[in-house]
Amino acid sequence: MLQAFRYRNDVLHAEGVSLSEVARDIGTPFYCYSTASIEHQYQQFSQSFTGNRVKICYSIKANSNLSVLGTFARLGAGADVVSGGELKRALTSGIQGSDVVFSGVGKTGDEMVDALEAGIMQFNVESEQELAQLAEIAKTRGVTAPVALRINPNVDAGTHDKITTGRVWDKFGIPWPEARDIYRLASNMPGLEMCGIAIHIGSQLTNLEPLEIAFRDVADAVSSLRDDGHNIKRVDLGGGLGIPYHFDPLTLEALDSSPSVESYAALISKATDNLDCDIILEPGRFLVGNAGVLISKVTLLKESRGRLFAVIDAAMNDLMRPALYGAFHEIVPVVSSSAEPEYLDVVGPICESSDVLAKGRRMARPDPGSLLAILSVGAYGAVMASSYNGRPIIPEVLVHNEEYSVVRPRSPIDEAMSIETLPPWLERSFELDTM
Ligand SMILES: *Cc1c(COP(=O)(O)O)cnc(C)c1O
Repeated sequence: MLQAFRYRNDVLHAEGVSLSEVARDIGTPFYCYSTASIEHQYQQFSQSFTGNRVKICYSIKANSNLSVLGTFARLGAGADVVSGGELKRALTSGIQGSDVVFSGVGKTGDEMVDALEAGIMQFNVESEQELAQLAEIAKTRGVTAPVALRINPNVDAGTHDKITTGRVWDKFGIPWPEARDIYRLASNMPGLEMCGIAIHIGSQLTNLEPLEIAFRDVADAVSSLRDDGHNIKRVDLGGGLGIPYHFDPLTLEALDSSPSVESYAALISKATDNLDCDIILEPGRFLVGNAGVLISKVTLLKESRGRLFAVIDAAMNDLMRPALYGAFHEIVPVVSSSAEPEYLDVVGPICESSDVLAKGRRMARPDPGSLLAILSVGAYGAVMASSYNGRPIIPEVLVHNEEYSVVRPRSPIDEAMSIETLPPWLERSFELDTM
């Protein structure tokens, strides 16, 4: 079931808020998130892990709007960040530095300095070069950097090629036998505390088997590292738990099965219960993916050689996932429709053939001017938006019970242009032109 989104009197609501009213108030397109849905997912996730040795570090890259982060901060979540910008967002939203894990394959020196200054819980280091640089920076500043090496377990997560990260030919992590040597090397470097081990094998995992294999490998690695004399006290098992993307357009019941968080928790418990370690988990999509919808208006219908196109006012620059990953997003009318379903393409106005949000989709023919809701866009939606084709970045709205708040306004084109400047030689010619 799609939490918190429901038809009431034939109008799609987010909690107690009518999405057609929000559209009337602020225009389209816009993203809308539900607080209740975020809270429900977080609680479902955290309650699956009994005992207090699991720290949930929300993977900020899924959705880094400050009010979404503030919602997580209030729930007691930590953060998994992959850049200095995300670190700043986490701290600004009230997440403690000591609850932050820093992941990523290419941290810069400046980012390391900022993270050390914030006193983060752990750097997940992905190469020997990065380790040496971090040691140098920490030593110079007279501090110790808590480090986990991210292992590449060489398992295929069996998800989309572009979001699989744990195979040897992916750029992520360090393969195991080499990693063991690097731990040995690192234990002699001042400025470092080798206190953990980390993995993340991919995203949108709908089959838990690759995770089970990877978790077992990590547990084995912990034993070996302890044999080598390292004080491993933390195991970071990454994120990646998949969510449903197919929903019944009328009841909004999930149609595809995603693994239950209970079975995921059972795997983790089985692999780590005997390790006497703190566990870090980095869920992103699971917590926010189905907490967001994108509301868009149908600009016109176009029929060409028997093919029907619904041209809408949202596009691939607002939601990249269909163009980037061939991702499927359910699309439903905001006001329920009794029109007979037919096959049509839902497309944006951008001058690219990849600007297709749904292809050959069987759905009720929408009227021009009517509203559509693109579902499951809470993760990897707004964060990937660009202003390609001179399009403004669209607003984000957060709902809480009967209330909603615009938590990021539409950035008008004038605002985007106002930060651009002309080089002196063009300014001169502009002056001439206007004389
Ligand atoms: C993207 C990412 C996550 C979150 O993945 P989800 O599939 O959204 O849960 C967690 N950890 C790392 C290192 C990541 O890069």
